[in-house]
Amino acid sequence: MYGQIPDSHKKDIDAAVNAAKKAFPAWSNTPVEERFKILNRIAELIDEHLEALALAETNDNGKPLWLSKRVDIPRASANFRFFATGIMHFATESHNMEGRAVNYTLRQPIGIVGCISPWNLPLYLFTWKIAPALAAGNCVIAKPSEVTPVTAFLLSKICMEAGLPAGVLNIVHGTGPGAGEAIVTHPDIKAISFTGSTRAGERIASLAAPKFKKLSLELGGKNPAIIFADCDWDKMLTETIRSSFSNQGEICLCGSRILVEESVYEKFKNAFVDRTKALTVGDPLEATSKQGAIVSKVHYEKILRCIDTAKTEGGVILCGGNAIHPSGRCKDGYFIEPTVIEGLGPQCQTNQEEIFGPVVTLQSFKTEDEALQLANASSYGLAATIWTQDISKANRVAAKVESGIIWINCWLLRDLRTPFGGMKNSGVGREGGWEALRFFTEAKNICVEL
Ligand code: NAD
Repeated sequence: MYGQIPDSHKKDIDAAVNAAKKAFPAWSNTPVEERFKILNRIAELIDEHLEALALAETNDNGKPLWLSKRVDIPRASANFRFFATGIMHFATESHNMEGRAVNYTLRQPIGIVGCISPWNLPLYLFTWKIAPALAAGNCVIAKPSEVTPVTAFLLSKICMEAGLPAGVLNIVHGTGPGAGEAIVTHPDIKAISFTGSTRAGERIASLAAPKFKKLSLELGGKNPAIIFADCDWDKMLTETIRSSFSNQGEICLCGSRILVEESVYEKFKNAFVDRTKALTVGDPLEATSKQGAIVSKVHYEKILRCIDTAKTEGGVILCGGNAIHPSGRCKDGYFIEPTVIEGLGPQCQTNQEEIFGPVVTLQSFKTEDEALQLANASSYGLAATIWTQDISKANRVAAKVESGIIWINCWLLRDLRTPFGGMKNSGVGREGGWEALRFFTEAKNICVEL
């Protein structure tokens, strides 16, 4: 143990809401240029504190330090910068009724909103919600995951240093059932933006829907990577290793079901297994570690159970499948070998349930239709990757895959302006760009007869 956090409950959320209520009139009337300056300053301070934030993220989460430095923390500052500037350009619609009337839409801040985020990309996803909510003029009650709370705590200091007025952003710590549900059910919190598991999303929806709260739910995934024989082979192989095992496979967008055209299945399997075996798993502080530690004992045990289930279902472990005990300071840590499994059909538990670890399965297909059937044989619909040099096929398949985000010949290439989110059990609503600013505002139509 290296730290303690408060286990907040209803009375702490009440206190946070009271602070937000006091701050809201002034913050919602603060000119956007002033909001821009403060939020942009937060971005600059995140950059200035990159080293300390990255180290905190790695110690808390187990991800490699180079990844925290290269991805997590830069993306946190990018989120603030993006929405700080975005609000300066946000405009609303007008509908003209040919000489009779004009309608215009006001988009006003909702009031007090709740943001709840998971442990896999702690500061990255926390700021992805908070930044647009604040930019739009709301006051925010935000809860990071109790598993990885440290960078959220450090962010609170940065926000104070940047001059964010008291009560505008209230960061509370605690568990899902404790602090999380107190946020979701609080009568004065009018919108909930949640990223996390489908299980918790379902519970949150059941609590918030009867209270008619606005809801954005970014949930789990079981994403297909569809590999056609005519792809750019080397690029596909490099990126598929990345999409399978980045961040220990603990990214909602990781491709965990790899679907390969039959004619190149054996070639892919051999090359992919070789590359997987070459990945170094070890101390997250070492620059050579491609994969770090699993976030917690509970999650580590869950992943190992999933691997056992795959074996019971008849899956063949092509490589990995075991816990690792690196030498030195990490010998008691939660490390798992990157694992590749074949021989399982689309309906088995291993191909249906999100594992959220360094575990992928291989399945083969003969035709484009079969590839689509396999891709869509999941209750999730978050992201998919398509590898082919045939541009017509790529676009045809992309239109038919039931996922909110499709990457053709790339993976995790993100433009913050684009809609982000999933279909089916992967969630409701979209984040990113204007979608986020629309979510965090209430639209009001005003009709003026001429
Ligand atoms: P989780 O659902 O256990 O927890 C997420 C957050 O919700 C935490 O802050 C937790 O305290 C809180 N929470 C849990 N139960 C709650 C409840 N009943 N009421 C209110 N809050 C509650 O998820 P996790 O294990 O932290 O994260 C992993 C999951 O997140 C995976 O399923 C992953 O796919 C998903 N995820 C999705 C996206 C996306 O954009 N779709 C991104 C990252 C992670």
